[in-house]
Amino acid sequence: MNQHRLLALPVLGESFLLQRDGKNILVDGGFSSSRLIRALQATNVDVNQLDIVVCTHADRDHAGGLKNLLGNSTVSVGEIWLPGEWGDSLRELLNDPKAVVDALVNEFREFEPPRLNDSPADSGDSDEVERQAYAIINSLREKRMKNYKHDVQFVEGEETGLSGLQWLQEIAGNTQQKDANLQDERHIQNRKAAENIFQNGINRIRYRQAKRRLDAIWAKIWIVAIHAAAIIRGIALQAIESNVRVRWFDFDRFVQNGYHPVGGVADLLTPLNAVEIPMPPTPASDLRYFVRLTPVNERSLAFLSTQAAGLCPTDIVFTGDSPLGYGVGYKMSFLARRTQRGLAIVTAPHHGSESNAVAYTHIRSCWQDLLWLRSGGTRKHPGATFKKIPTHLRACTHCPQKGKALDLAEVQLSDRLWPVLRVRSHYCDCEA
Ligand SMILES: [Zn+2]
Ligand SMILES: [Zn+2]
Ligand SMILES: [Zn+2]
Repeated sequence: MNQHRLLALPVLGESFLLQRDGKNILVDGGFSSSRLIRALQATNVDVNQLDIVVCTHADRDHAGGLKNLLGNSTVSVGEIWLPGEWGDSLRELLNDPKAVVDALVNEFREFEPPRLNDSPADSGDSDEVERQAYAIINSLREKRMKNYKHDVQFVEGEETGLSGLQWLQEIAGNTQQKDANLQDERHIQNRKAAENIFQNGINRIRYRQAKRRLDAIWAKIWIVAIHAAAIIRGIALQAIESNVRVRWFDFDRFVQNGYHPVGGVADLLTPLNAVEIPMPPTPASDLRYFVRLTPVNERSLAFLSTQAAGLCPTDIVFTGDSPLGYGVGYKMSFLARRTQRGLAIVTAPHHGSESNAVAYTHIRSCWQDLLWLRSGGTRKHPGATFKKIPTHLRACTHCPQKGKALDLAEVQLSDRLWPVLRVRSHYCDCEA
């Protein structure tokens, strides 16, 4: 009997590990690499062999922990799967991070913020205003598709990820030289210098916000974009230095492709809302950096691990922060083309946030949901829809509104009789 495991790791932010068919697949890495590595070691996972590491989007609670993972000497990564839209700024980020940060700060200075409708006075939180701000950025990104150059084609069956790494090496030029000690030292200095550049950019945004009393929401979004820039650059640099194969998954190409996902590894891990491309396309030059760099949850990548054999094949759905749909209220499902109905274990979309509640409907139109696995988020997570799930069908690494301590949530899977052998976690206490 084959046993598989799905783990929600006890880290701040979100990180899942799937062990299936002898492979270790890590989806996102929480905020911090050291915490992630400790969590992996505590579960007796052979961190010397992470076959696939996936990054769903550049938000810190998902991608921060991947920044120093590839370069860590105790970890060996087979390949890393990244959002294709990162290619929009990587050439500049690798070669001249200061220019990117300066451009971002200048954009903030020149930015004329569109009017946002205040949330109802009684709600007292800024969620709705923030959602509107992100919707504006998302619509600007959508315009990107109109003049998006079709200069790369996915070759089906291409599975090596070598072209993705080669592309990174090419655009990074000669900045990567790791042989001589002197160059190593210079390299460490370069890294520290880059960190200072990003921190300096954040300080300048805070200063401008204080000075000009610009909307706090927009300042927050700009700071998130700078954090994303640091993460994107950091992960790309480590992929180059560690010679890790890189595979690119593009959300816009998925939309252009009539919402048909393409690529990944059949029967192991495939995208639900992306098309794999051998290397990112050349971005439209008029695209502003805050549009290129702001991680928008609607564009978070989602993945599917299907189990082909066994009496009770069970799919694992990694939703990331995606609502799994598009259009008004995301009501048009990305999964509409999937007809077969099977069993699935699903990661709670956007930490169980009510903003992505429609994703539960999309999932349930394709699968019988056996279990929802939730992690990360803040005290406003999870929302009413997650809390309505019967308690025996959900598990949490921690229950934010109950202040429960972080703990591993583990699902043991079998390919016989009934797929879920055992769920090991503390009792999910997320209640209204
Ligand atoms: Zn996010
Ligand atoms: Zn998130
Ligand atoms: Zn809970």
